[in-house]
Amino acid sequence: MAIEGLHHITAITADAPGNLDFYVGVLGLRLVKKTVNFDEPSVYHLYYGDEVGAPGSILTFFEFPGAAPGRAGDGMVHTIRWRVGSDAAIGFWHERLTATGVPVDRDGGVLLFRDPEGLSHELLVAGGRDAPLAAHAPDVPDEHALQGFHGVRAYAALPDRGRPLLSALGMRPEDDRGEDWTAAGAERRAHLRYDRPPTERGVQGAGTVHHIAWSVADDAELLALRERAGAAGARATPIVDRQYFHSVYFREPSGVLFELASRDIGFTFDEPVASLGSTLKLPPQHEHLRAAVEQSLTPLPDPRRRSDAPAR
Ligand code: ZN
Repeated sequence: MAIEGLHHITAITADAPGNLDFYVGVLGLRLVKKTVNFDEPSVYHLYYGDEVGAPGSILTFFEFPGAAPGRAGDGMVHTIRWRVGSDAAIGFWHERLTATGVPVDRDGGVLLFRDPEGLSHELLVAGGRDAPLAAHAPDVPDEHALQGFHGVRAYAALPDRGRPLLSALGMRPEDDRGEDWTAAGAERRAHLRYDRPPTERGVQGAGTVHHIAWSVADDAELLALRERAGAAGARATPIVDRQYFHSVYFREPSGVLFELASRDIGFTFDEPVASLGSTLKLPPQHEHLRAAVEQSLTPLPDPRRRSDAPAR
C-alpha cells in the first residue's frame, strides 16, 4: 500500500469562463468533468486533466462568482508544479504564454507563471519513469503538452511538525529539515515542498488552492491510511462519496488541507471518454435541482471549440 502521487488539486476561481479559457484554451488541458460543488450545488466544480481524466493530472476549480482574490500564506499550497517532456517544451511554453500576454519567469530550467487570478504554476522537466499524462489540444504539439503533476509547494513556518503524519502516510523525506517529501507508489510519484511563509497572513479566495488530494487505490486503502493518519494525530473525516472517487479529508499540522482520493471509480463513471466534460453532470442527490442549477450557473462556451479560436 502506497500513495501513488497526487490524485487531484482543487483551487478556487471567481470566473469560470475565464478559468476555462486559460486552462483549456491556453494550457491545453481537457475539461474532463463539468459538475457542481456537491456541498453547494449552485456553483460549478470544473475538472481539467489529460485526455482520459487520469489521476495525477486533475486540476479542479470551485467557482465562487465574484469571490475576492485570495493570497497564499502559512499553511497553504502556493504553487502547482507540472511536468513537461523536454527543454524544448519549456521553450514552447515560454513563447506561447508570452504571446498570450501571460508574464513568465525562468529559474534555471523551471518556467514560472500565474493564471489570470494569480495562482502560481511551475513547469519543469522531471525525467523519471512516470507515464506522461497529456491532453491533445488542437494547437499544442503533443510532445510539448503538460504531462501531469510533479507536485506542489506549500508555505509552512514549522515544516518539521508534519514529519509524523507524512511518515505515517508512507511519504519519504528528501532532506533533514522536513521541507521536501516524496509520495511514491509503484506507478507514480509526487513531491511536496515546504517554503518559508510570507509575513502576511494567507486568505482563501480566488486564485488560491483549496486542497490537494493524494492518490490511493480503493476504500480499503482509504480506511487503512485514515487509521494511520489518525494515529499520527490527524482528525480525519469518514469516507465521503464524491461520485468519481471516495475521499477522506484532514489537515496536516501546518494547516494544508489533505484529501485521500480513491482511483477505483473514475470520471468515466457517468460518461464515456469521448464525451468527458461535454455536459453538466449532477450527482443523484442533486439531479432534482437540475433546472434551477442550470439557470444559476454561468454559461460556459464549448471548451474545445473555444481552443480552436485565438487564445485570448
Ligand atoms: Zn478534492
